[in-house]
Amino acid sequence: MKPIQSIIAAMLLSLTFACSNSGKKSCTTHEKHDDTELAHWGYEGDEGPEQWDKLCPAYSECKGHHQSPIDISSDLSTSTDIEIHQNYSYVSGVDFVNNGHSIQVNFNDAQKNMLNVNGKDFILKQFHFHFPSEHTIDGKELAGEAHFVHVSEDGHISVLGVFIEEGEPNDFIERLTHHIPAKEGETTTVTESICAQSAFSEHDDFYVYEGSLTTPPCTEGVNWFVRKTHMQATHEQLEALHKVMPDHNNRPVQPLYDRKIGELADL
Ligand SMILES: [Zn+2]
Repeated sequence: MKPIQSIIAAMLLSLTFACSNSGKKSCTTHEKHDDTELAHWGYEGDEGPEQWDKLCPAYSECKGHHQSPIDISSDLSTSTDIEIHQNYSYVSGVDFVNNGHSIQVNFNDAQKNMLNVNGKDFILKQFHFHFPSEHTIDGKELAGEAHFVHVSEDGHISVLGVFIEEGEPNDFIERLTHHIPAKEGETTTVTESICAQSAFSEHDDFYVYEGSLTTPPCTEGVNWFVRKTHMQATHEQLEALHKVMPDHNNRPVQPLYDRKIGELADL
């Protein structure tokens, strides 16, 4: 077992222990579709984002002060000297999972899609979609947002966020739409080759800040890079992705508190 897997396994054990002793009914529930999910959560009502931190002790970080998403105020951002490099390649046969919260394409480590942040390697684990967007720019919400989640060997997380707006046909999304897992709990295989690089351009500018996972357990310490230029897709392509997910699966924006927003130019 690799170190990161050992750490995650240990975390899961300790979280399970914490939850089953909490006395809260919801915390003893292990959901079938996600090994890491300790209590059921959603985007509405008693299980909605306002309640996440109370659903289970393991979700207490959801009320932290470095949470995501945020509204990115373009006036407040300042340039940084952070460097990132993507090293993605075409893969085929990836799993496409409908986990009831989103639809997610999973990569395995052998597929070696890498992101390098200031000399540190992060492996692309998965990407998934939110409708509408989770981050907002100067208060403006976009049609959707894709999140490319990378994890380093020591367990740190870097996410690239890409806004999606209605517009030109998108070949990357088109390939996915042929294999959409229509029902919660369903997994399909994307038999066509896809390359995550297709969601980016050769030279991208990003907003950068320190935040969290946008779903429980809302783990903090996540490096966020939100692409300034939007990816386009047709109404039909967006509808094909969106219709199999909850009507809206965007966590509301969280307060910035003491954080700064940086800018990273020309990847
Ligand atoms: Zn996400």
